Amino acid sequence: MSTSGHLPDRPGSRSLDPHLGRYAARAEGMTASEVRALFAVASRPEVVSLAGGMPNLAALPLDFLSDQIASIVADEGLVALQYGSAHGVPLLREQICEVMALEGVTGHPDDLVVTVGSQMALDLVTRIFIDPGDIVLAEGPSYVGALGTFASYQADVRHVVMDEHGLVPEALRAALAAADQAGRRVKFLYTIPNFNNPAGVTLAVARRAEVLDICARHDVLVIEDNPYGLLGFDGQVYPALRSMDADNVIYLGSFSKTFASGLRVGWALAPHAVREKLVLAAESAALCPPTLNQLVVSRYLATHDWKGQIKSFQTMYRDRRDALLAGLAQYMPAGCTWTKPDGGFFVWLTVPEGVDTKAMQPRAVTARVAYVPGTGFYADGFGSRQMRLSFCYPPPERITEGVRRLAGVLAEELDL
Ligand code: PMP
Repeated sequence: MSTSGHLPDRPGSRSLDPHLGRYAARAEGMTASEVRALFAVASRPEVVSLAGGMPNLAALPLDFLSDQIASIVADEGLVALQYGSAHGVPLLREQICEVMALEGVTGHPDDLVVTVGSQMALDLVTRIFIDPGDIVLAEGPSYVGALGTFASYQADVRHVVMDEHGLVPEALRAALAAADQAGRRVKFLYTIPNFNNPAGVTLAVARRAEVLDICARHDVLVIEDNPYGLLGFDGQVYPALRSMDADNVIYLGSFSKTFASGLRVGWALAPHAVREKLVLAAESAALCPPTLNQLVVSRYLATHDWKGQIKSFQTMYRDRRDALLAGLAQYMPAGCTWTKPDGGFFVWLTVPEGVDTKAMQPRAVTARVAYVPGTGFYADGFGSRQMRLSFCYPPPERITEGVRRLAGVLAEELDL
C-alpha cells in the first residue's frame, strides 16, 4: 500500500513510514492533492480526462524553438549553463515588465524576481509572510497548489465566497470583521482574479478597486495570482490589481500557460520594500532559477510573435470551452449548474443534492471519464457537491464524449 496516497511503494519497503514522529509539524499538513492522486488513472488512453490542468502545447513552434535553444548553447553556452543571480536574468526581467504592461502594470525590473514557475513564487511569498496559525484569506474554491503551500506553512486558510463576478466584496468585509473580532491577524488575501482556477469566474472590473480598498484599510496584503490573464477568449485583457495598487499587491505571473510549462519560468513582482526579502528567500530555496530556461524564454519573447502565439492558444481553448459548455447544456441532468468562463481552462460544476462528487469519482473512472472532486479546492471540507472540469487538454470531440459519459454517471447516481 502507498504511504503517501500517490507514490507506489518500492518492493520490500514497509507500508508504515518508519520516520513518522520525526517529521516537522509543518510536514503533517502535506498531503497528496486530489489532482495528483488522479493523474495515474486519468492518463489512461481510454479515459477522457477533464481532470488535469495541463496546457496544450501542440501549437508551439518546436522546430523554431529547437534552433533557438541550439543557438543559445552555441552563442552563450558558458552563461546559459552557469549559475546566475537569484533575482533572475536582467534582460528577461525587463521583457516580463513589457508583458505585464499589457495588463496596465508598470513595475520596475528590479522589483521582479524570476522563479521556478509561479508555484515557487507562491512558496516564497508564504515563507516570508506566514507564521504558523496566521490567517490567509482565499477565494472558495481556490487553487489546490496554493492551498497545499499554505498548509505546509501551517496557515489558517479562511475562504471568501465568489459569485459569477468573482470574489464578493461584502463577504471579504465579513471575513475581515470576523478575524478582527476574534483578535486574529489576517496576513494576506490570495486571489486569482482572472479565469479562476478552479471556478472559471473573473473578478468584475467594477469590484477591483473595492477589493483593494478593503484590503488596504485592514492592512492586509494582496497576492494576485494571474497565470491565465492573457488567455481571455475574445482577446480581452483585464486591468491587473497590481496596476491599481503598486504598494499593497504582489503579482505572480507565469509563462506556463502562455508559452511552455516545462520550462518552469514564472515570477513575482513585489512592492519595492518586499523585493529584497523575496530575493533572499529565492536564494535559499534554489540559489537561482535555471539560466538556460530563462534565456530560452527571453529569446522566444525577442524573436517570436509571442502575442500571435497567445492568440492561437486563445482560439484553441475557446473551441474547447465551447465544446464543454455545449455538452453540458445538452447532456447534464436537471439540477446541475455550472460557470461559463470567458477565458482560462476551467468550468466549475455543481451537482444536485444527494450526490457526493468524491464518492462518485471511481464510478466515473469506470465509465471512462475523470474530473477533480470539489473538496480538494477548499481547506475546510466544503465542495462535496462540486467538481472541476478542465477543457484545456482533450480535443473538442473528446470533451463532448467525456461530458456525455459524465452525465450518464450522474443520471445513475440520481436514479434517473
Ligand atoms: N497558480 C494557479 C492559479 C495555477 O493554476 C497554477 C498552475 N496550475 C499555478 C499557480 C502554478 O503555475 P506554474 O508554477 O506552472 O507557473
